[in-house]
Amino acid sequence: MKSIINNTDCKTCRTHMPDLLLDETFLATHPEMSAHLATCTACAAELNELRSTFALLDTWTAPEPSAYFDSKLHARLREAEAEQPEGFWERTRSFLLFSTGRGLRPALAGSLAFAMLIGGGSFGLYLQHQSASSQASATVNDLQILDNNAQAVQQMNQLLDDSGSDDNATPPTT
Ligand SMILES: [Zn+2]
Repeated sequence: MKSIINNTDCKTCRTHMPDLLLDETFLATHPEMSAHLATCTACAAELNELRSTFALLDTWTAPEPSAYFDSKLHARLREAEAEQPEGFWERTRSFLLFSTGRGLRPALAGSLAFAMLIGGGSFGLYLQHQSASSQASATVNDLQILDNNAQAVQQMNQLLDDSGSDDNATPPTT
C-alpha cells in the first residue's frame, strides 16, 4: 500500500465501502465518491475485490440438517426427562430445561401442589401463632368455644355416669 491511502478521499472511500457494496443508490447520491473511484485505481480495485467476494458468498448455501434430526432430538429429550434426577431443585432445573409443552401440565400441577403444600403449611403455622398470642380471628374463636363446650358436656356426662344416676345422662351430641 502506498501513501495514497492517507489521502482524505481514500479514507472516506474506505469508510463508505459497505455503503458502496450494499446500497445500490449510494453512488448515484454521492457523485464525489464515483469521481474518486474513477480516478483512484486502488479504491476501485478494493471495491471490485469486495464485490466478487460478496458475489461468491451469495452462491454459498448452508447445509440442510439430517431428516432424522428432529426425531433424534425428541428421543434424547424424552430419555433425559425419563431419568428423573434426584432432588427438588434438580427436577425444577430439568423441568425448565426440558419442558416442551408435552409434559408441561403434569409438571406444573406438581409444582403447584408443592407450592400449595408449603404455602398451606406456613399459613397453618401462622394461624397457630396468631391463636397462641390470643389474636385469633372470629372463626377460630368460635371453633374454640364450640370445642370447649363439647368437652364440658363430655365431662358432665362422665361425672353423671360415675355417680350412677344415668337417667339424666344425655348422649353426647356431636
Ligand atoms: Zn482512493
